[in-house]
Amino acid sequence: MASQDTAELFRQIVERVRALDPVHSRKWFEDLAISRLDAGTMEVSCPDDTAAQFLEDHCLGVFTQAAQHATGHLVAVHFVGGASTGRPLSENGSPGVRLHPDYTFESFVVGPCNRLAHASCIAVSHSPGTTYNPLFLYGTVGLGKTHLLHAVCHGVRKETPDSRIQFLSCEEFVNRFITAIEHGTLGEFQSRFRTVDVLVIDDVQFLSDREQSQEEFFHTFNAIYNNNGQIVLTADCAPGEIPAIEERLISRFKWGLVARLDAPSYETRVAIVQKKAHLRGLEISEEVAEYIAGKVTANIRELEGALTIIYATAQAAGEAITLQLARQALGRQEAESRKSITITEIIDAVTRFYDVRLADLQSKKRSQSIALPRQVCMYLARNLTRHSLEEIGGHLGGRDHSTVLHAYSKIDELRRTDAGTRGQIDQLIAAIRPD
Ligand code: ADP
Ligand code: MG
Repeated sequence: MASQDTAELFRQIVERVRALDPVHSRKWFEDLAISRLDAGTMEVSCPDDTAAQFLEDHCLGVFTQAAQHATGHLVAVHFVGGASTGRPLSENGSPGVRLHPDYTFESFVVGPCNRLAHASCIAVSHSPGTTYNPLFLYGTVGLGKTHLLHAVCHGVRKETPDSRIQFLSCEEFVNRFITAIEHGTLGEFQSRFRTVDVLVIDDVQFLSDREQSQEEFFHTFNAIYNNNGQIVLTADCAPGEIPAIEERLISRFKWGLVARLDAPSYETRVAIVQKKAHLRGLEISEEVAEYIAGKVTANIRELEGALTIIYATAQAAGEAITLQLARQALGRQEAESRKSITITEIIDAVTRFYDVRLADLQSKKRSQSIALPRQVCMYLARNLTRHSLEEIGGHLGGRDHSTVLHAYSKIDELRRTDAGTRGQIDQLIAAIRPD
């Protein structure tokens, strides 16, 4: 097949992918190309391993479908990363760690709300271990903390590809620590974490009330710090406000630079909408960006959601994204969400049913009398609302998506196997949805 034909074929495939999956489509799909095409296989070369991983995780299905449609026969699609880029983190002894290709410094909009955090992350990625150590970022959910952590890792990887980086959520750190104790592999755990060049831990508020993990984290921190390694941490509140955490940890968190992220202003929100649209290869006018930024003020994740709805509406109608269309799309969504069930309603019903307090659900308490209602909340929120796992976790004390997912499967299993739980869930659903 002539290369021109291959290029045209691939253009058609990408066009179809954009129509099938606007949420995961990115502008950089234009930089992809077919590097090999034979009987049953299509190899797609990507700019780097992170991009290949993203496609593998989110887009394999749609690409396969589109390739099948365009070629008229069954093809297995493979994504291959470029050789020019840094190694995947997993080769540096951190299996399963994946950087998100969207979360770079280039795609991060800087405004008064995040200027210090952004500048300090840039400085750290240029010279880890020498400027701000530790770097501690904090702010409420959806303000870009995790995005910045990915960006730091991208930056370090680019500038010093040999650096050994560990990047994980605090919850994962705690889980791995517990597993290491259970399996008698604490030595391995410690040599893995205490010897890295850069340790990046997201949401350290998860340490509260976990004394043994705090102790372990304290020694990890000291070992890395004394080795001139860089430590970057985030939390949903300032170091001194994290409940039930040792004073010696709090004081270490404050040793370097503590930077707060605030909610973005209107102007910053407009710029973010434009940046996100650009990233997806969408054309939107200034007035549409301003409309979205004026309408959605709560958190940045929701700005992205609004963009998706508008795009999907435009696609379905076969129209361009005009202000009028944006108004219709978001207006309809508003009307729907007014009718639909909210997480607050679910929490109200659950706290009444089990006679527990919201503060308990949001606390770190793990006794069965609290943990079960909390998990039931997560289960119902996932079933009855369209909120993301992160958002659901956010309502229940800042738990991360894996915790919510775990709760979901546990209750789902119980609902199928245990008549008592099934009865409780049915009663709750009836109470929440009275019709
Ligand atoms: P947090 O970890 O603080 O809860 P995230 O880093 O997960 O927040 O950010 C939520 C979403 O908002 C992500 O999609 C992220 O890319 C986006 N976002 C947040 N701040 C910015 C910014 N300043 N510029 C561009 N995107 C942003
Ligand atoms: Mg986060």
